[in-house]
Amino acid sequence: MAALPILKAGCCWHVGEGSSIKVQADKWLPNHPTNKILHSANEDVEDWLVSDLIDLEMHWWRRELITTIFHREDAEAICQIPLSHRRVADSIIWLHARSGGYSIKTGYHVARRVLKHEDWAESSGRSDMQKVWQALWRLKVPNRIKIFGWRLCHGILPTWVNLARRRIIRECENVCPTCAQFSETEFHVLRECLVAQDIWARSRIKLQKCHLGQQDMIQLIHYLLNRLDIEDVELFLVQAWVVWNKRNSVMHGGSVKEPSWLNRRAVEYLEEFKQAQEHLTIPMRQAEENVWRPPPHPFFKLNFDAAIFMESNSSGFGAVIWNEQGKVMAAMAAKGPPVSSSEEAETLVCRKALEFAVDVGFSELVVEGDNVNVMRAVSSSSMNLS
Ligand SMILES: [Zn+2]
Repeated sequence: MAALPILKAGCCWHVGEGSSIKVQADKWLPNHPTNKILHSANEDVEDWLVSDLIDLEMHWWRRELITTIFHREDAEAICQIPLSHRRVADSIIWLHARSGGYSIKTGYHVARRVLKHEDWAESSGRSDMQKVWQALWRLKVPNRIKIFGWRLCHGILPTWVNLARRRIIRECENVCPTCAQFSETEFHVLRECLVAQDIWARSRIKLQKCHLGQQDMIQLIHYLLNRLDIEDVELFLVQAWVVWNKRNSVMHGGSVKEPSWLNRRAVEYLEEFKQAQEHLTIPMRQAEENVWRPPPHPFFKLNFDAAIFMESNSSGFGAVIWNEQGKVMAAMAAKGPPVSSSEEAETLVCRKALEFAVDVGFSELVVEGDNVNVMRAVSSSSMNLS
């Protein structure tokens, strides 16, 4: 049992949702002396949980609240803790692992990255973030490339840096497999790496000429959306996707293709897709009742449905967002918790679907679900998605 105090001294909460961590009593500040709140707060925070300090929808710290309540030093230590873009459970970490685990240095770097991102998001406002998502989903590119762009902006592509952050590989192994010189962030692999630069140098989009004060991909895409024709933004995203695929194929032993060949492939791919879209007619059944119809312009339609799996005591749900032409703009599917009735499942999926729609930036929505009671509840509440 002698190990217990040592373990206690060396362990610290790793903040996920924050709902298991007590603000006052627990150790949860990895870059802080004693890992606890040091100074007395301006309010009684005895019963507070760390989740009270997090904007759980946006996944960032409630900075205004934190700086009002806590001493400057404590507030800084809190806001430096990086938060995941997704809902993850709180966990306990060992602070003194020599390799592969957490260290003050890596925590500091991650915190800095997240802070930069937050600074930008805060200074440019939430509406700009939404504009980026909306613009992304409206691009005339295949859905897989939209999803690639979405993952890119959320910082969840499986680059080596992201894998190290999720502790799937060790921190020292996060080097770019293509140039073997720098840590492989999304921004590095798609923009800075010498191989990517070769491709951009031969592209119709003169990325080299763009003033690049941007630190990460969402800033770069925001910048390009303001500066380029929409066709060029579409080409940019397809080229970025080609660069990413090339990186993956090189990693699996494929050969490096000529940059001009890759550029040509991106242009052809986009042209083929657009031609196929033009020839695609959407069958419209009219005479029947209860026929699904696309939403009127300028609205998007959100459809969702749930399923209950008795054998595995779980539920599943999915949601699709359509535009006025009946084209899929975004879709999601996920496993859900155990539920006791189909109405509970429908209510749950309705909430998840609405959250998903807001997350990907659609606010002008026609909402359509199967369950009459749930739909009545939604339409009678004064819910405002904007
Ligand atoms: Zn590289």
